[in-house]
Amino acid sequence: MSEPLIEVLDALEKPLKFASRKDFSNIGKVKALDQLVYDLTLKALSLQPSDVHKEEFLALRDMFSHYESLDTESRKELIENSLATVAKLRKDCGSSAIKQVDKSLSASERGDVKQRAVSPQAEKTTLKGREIEQIPVKYVRGVGPRIAEVLRKKGVASVYEALFYFPRRYEDRRKIRNISQLHPGERETISGQIVVSDKVRTSRRSLYQVVISDGTGTIKLVWFQFSERYLRATYKKGLSVILSGEVTLGYRDELQIIHPKPEDIEVIEEGEGLDEQNVHFNRIVPVYPLAEGIGQRRMRKIMKSVVDDYSQSLPNFIPEKIKSKRKVMEFAKAVVRVHFPDDQDQVVEFTDRGSVYESLPHKTVSYCELFLMQLGIALKKRDVTQMKGIVFSPSGVLTKKLLSRFSFDLTSAQLRVISEIERDMRSEIPMNRMLQGDVGSGKTVVALISILKAVESGYQAVLMAPTEILAEQHLVSIFNYLKGMRLHIVFLKSSLSKSEKGAYYKALSNGQAQIAVGTHALIQEKVDFKNLGLVVIDEQHRFGVMQRAELIGKGNRPDVLVMTATPIPRTLALTVHGDLDVSVLDELPPGRREIRTKVYYDQKRARERAHSLVEREIKKGRQAYVVYPMIEESENSDFKGLKDATQMAERFQNEIFPNFRVGLLHGRMKPEEKDIVMRKFISNDLDILVSTTVIEVGVDVPNATVMVVENAERFGLTQLHQLRGRVGRGKHDSYCVLLSGFQRSEDAERRLSVMERTRDGFEIAEADLAIRGPGDFLGTKQSGLPEFKFANIMRDTKILGEAREDAFHVVKKDPRLSNYPELLKEVSRKWKNLLEFASIS
Ligand code: ADP
Ligand code: MG
Repeated sequence: MSEPLIEVLDALEKPLKFASRKDFSNIGKVKALDQLVYDLTLKALSLQPSDVHKEEFLALRDMFSHYESLDTESRKELIENSLATVAKLRKDCGSSAIKQVDKSLSASERGDVKQRAVSPQAEKTTLKGREIEQIPVKYVRGVGPRIAEVLRKKGVASVYEALFYFPRRYEDRRKIRNISQLHPGERETISGQIVVSDKVRTSRRSLYQVVISDGTGTIKLVWFQFSERYLRATYKKGLSVILSGEVTLGYRDELQIIHPKPEDIEVIEEGEGLDEQNVHFNRIVPVYPLAEGIGQRRMRKIMKSVVDDYSQSLPNFIPEKIKSKRKVMEFAKAVVRVHFPDDQDQVVEFTDRGSVYESLPHKTVSYCELFLMQLGIALKKRDVTQMKGIVFSPSGVLTKKLLSRFSFDLTSAQLRVISEIERDMRSEIPMNRMLQGDVGSGKTVVALISILKAVESGYQAVLMAPTEILAEQHLVSIFNYLKGMRLHIVFLKSSLSKSEKGAYYKALSNGQAQIAVGTHALIQEKVDFKNLGLVVIDEQHRFGVMQRAELIGKGNRPDVLVMTATPIPRTLALTVHGDLDVSVLDELPPGRREIRTKVYYDQKRARERAHSLVEREIKKGRQAYVVYPMIEESENSDFKGLKDATQMAERFQNEIFPNFRVGLLHGRMKPEEKDIVMRKFISNDLDILVSTTVIEVGVDVPNATVMVVENAERFGLTQLHQLRGRVGRGKHDSYCVLLSGFQRSEDAERRLSVMERTRDGFEIAEADLAIRGPGDFLGTKQSGLPEFKFANIMRDTKILGEAREDAFHVVKKDPRLSNYPELLKEVSRKWKNLLEFASIS
């Protein structure tokens, strides 16, 4: 039996055991047991148990469908029988899992259940003064161990997180319409009493129907697929319900709702007090994303308790001035109203598109999150600008020499960026600048000039690349350009002998060497510099907010220039690189040759065309890449990608192109092996390089003119753009063939057509962002940024702009936030582990 099934059994057993404890003294405290058992058995059945087990689960479900109508004695009997069934099912899967569960419940937790049953009040007082982040969600009224566990799986472990478990949508129940006034074709909310609940057999099939009357008319709920016992037990004649759904006209124009969702039908509990009425009725009610085994009503009630009992503990950190300027509310009150809107509140669609700007509570919550993030960025930037850095005064001797060696004129974009960098270098505020430029826009040239400016001012400079091959390519071009300038350049690579390493480190620490080139890791390790002035980081498409911060701490506050080939849309740049100044190379050097891009379906004919293109180009003396995707791990497969690439390399060599020289490159190779292959390709000792995506990162082989991408539908846009950027780097026209399977998703279709349409990196980045959404685009976890609970930078662009302006203004006026203790506390909490604010406090 599978792990998930054991979990279901655990979930089944707990409430049953609880109910049976101490001669069933708890039996009245377990609510909605039938619903719970129904949900859990359904889950069990969906896990496809063996036929025998399936029967057992079905029996369990059927037995419980009568639960509500049973008297206490029969209930006890049922619970006892069910416990026996569960125990029997469990036997089939051994006892290991059970022990684990028991252990995971600490003694105090097990005690909790009882204690709370006795006196919820007593427990609450002991919580006073604890941060709501630290209060487990099980302390909320109406949340027991089972529900706490379900919520935890949804990412809600603390009361704080529960406060940010926002509704998915809302339902306006202020004016519930009479059934006689319903409009077919619309989504409506009604309430009434069940007058019929029964299975009906028509000549063709049987269906289940529930008829509801509100005195003005009747409406039918219809199920064609159903569990009769469940429906009969859940929607009993005489019960009052409130429900919503799309009303249609049935046979003879009767009003009906077909297959209403369980979460849309709420049975009103008998003896429900006015309090509860106010949660579920006479207002705009929230509709929450549901978790396994918790109905909508239960969830709403839990959230009401959370909001009532704990929202006042939320900090009130937005400065008064900003509140009145931006017309935002107090944070805590806004959170309350996002859960339970007031009558005058606008409700909001929680999509990427709709605007939350019109709803004060929603706008406030979004503003608060964005404000805190921007404040963190502003503080970080302040840290940098308050430091005293190096004031460079480049003599111009070396840079002039270099410029005279170029066979080309710098583009106006390069000239502009170089002067931006020089201005930073001459200022005493340390440079913290990002250089964005598409592949081939001439970033390396800009980096080289900046490095020489540092050197001719008497400082050392380093150039770091993410991989050794890239570092080496940089080294080669530096050597070529700087020949005869009498500069001492060291190359830090992993294969250095101890004595070489020692010599290089020494040259850097005593100042003999002016320039170091190497990988991020090697340079960050333990190199001492005599007087490091400039750090250039070639990041390619990585976003590394954190590493950068580490580096700046090194030595005498060097200037930092980060190069990236992935253009980032403006809205995102503000959030990701908000602490950096940005220079953009938005112009390609002239004379760039065309890259013709074609998307082909993966068919024999298309493949032959691709192969003959490869052949034609190689006969002209050019080279070609053929790339296979690394298939995701979940498909157990980087193995498969590997196999594909390996097999294809063999086929290429033996069958398709026996006369050409074919090389293979993949991620499982040792770095030295990779190096050998790559070097051969660079020196044109290979015609075709078959590869997984390892070549994606910045290699420069101008003689390569064909890029064939297999299974192109599996690549992201940024990756495809990077891959294509490997060709079109020399003086020849180039080609990019994207081979795609027939089965491709709509998103994949969009990606491929973007590739066909444009070569512009910015346009591609915008399209990528639109297709993937900001979270995936950035890979938020890796980027080191706090995640948003509610704000959405695509949707809330306008709010982001305001928050940024306000945050930077606050930091400018009060760099230590000494007048804003609440704010300081909150921003430190939000950004903890992410960034250090060295000079705060
Ligand atoms: P990037 O690092 O942005 O991908 P590179 O700096 O490697 O771009 O430049 C790509 C190619 O273009 C190199 O061969 C370089 O010599 C050449 N190049 C750079 N700037 C110019 C220019 N202004 N005019 C012509 N060619 C240039
Ligand atoms: Mg480059």
